Amino acid sequence: MLNEIEILLKVQEKDLRIMALAYRLKKNPEIVNKAGDRLKEAENALKDKEDMLRKLQVERKNSEIQVESNNEKIAKLDSQAGSVRDNKTYKAIQNEILDLKARISLIEDTMLENMEKCDEVGAQIKDLREKAVQAKKALGESETRAKKENEEIEKEIKDLESLKTEIEKNLRPEILSQYRRLLNNKKDTVVVPSKNGSCGGCFMSLTPQCIMKLKSEMQIVTCESCQRILYWES
Ligand SMILES: [Zn+2]
Repeated sequence: MLNEIEILLKVQEKDLRIMALAYRLKKNPEIVNKAGDRLKEAENALKDKEDMLRKLQVERKNSEIQVESNNEKIAKLDSQAGSVRDNKTYKAIQNEILDLKARISLIEDTMLENMEKCDEVGAQIKDLREKAVQAKKALGESETRAKKENEEIEKEIKDLESLKTEIEKNLRPEILSQYRRLLNNKKDTVVVPSKNGSCGGCFMSLTPQCIMKLKSEMQIVTCESCQRILYWES
């Protein structure tokens, strides 16, 4: 194998690793953001249920006030009835009392339903609170993990870059810039072996002249279709 190809393969190995690491650096904030979204969702769901519970409690309070006021009316009517002498008025008061009692009974039914609903929503709130706590914990963990991983990745990239700079010194500048251009362009493997008479990058057939040049291992040969740098692999 050409010495320059061997060097290029070493440089490429480092570059591909750097690219993979850079991708993870880019992905980590997205993972943290997703955890943040999940926390927001959990907190919103909790807030909705808490609002619902407050509304139910206000409704119950109003019902209690209505029952109390109706009871007061009944007490007043009761004492009036005690001093009434004629039968007709007495009957009218009793009817009014019955009517108020029926109203109270209806309100009490609503209050019972309200209490059941409050219990139900209360249980949901308990679940949602737990979920929000878990989501907050997950976000914290995700942030810590991402921070630690990013530091490790940045250090590894720095080490790889300096190693690469050393290796690259052994390449002709024109070959290095040809390689750089290709890598920037393809963001993928650009120094590839020939495989069964085809380019190992784009899989197009190579011309017999190209194969001959490759086999002789005297110069850098590129694929006519994709411009990748080829090497002979027997
Ligand atoms: Zn090709």
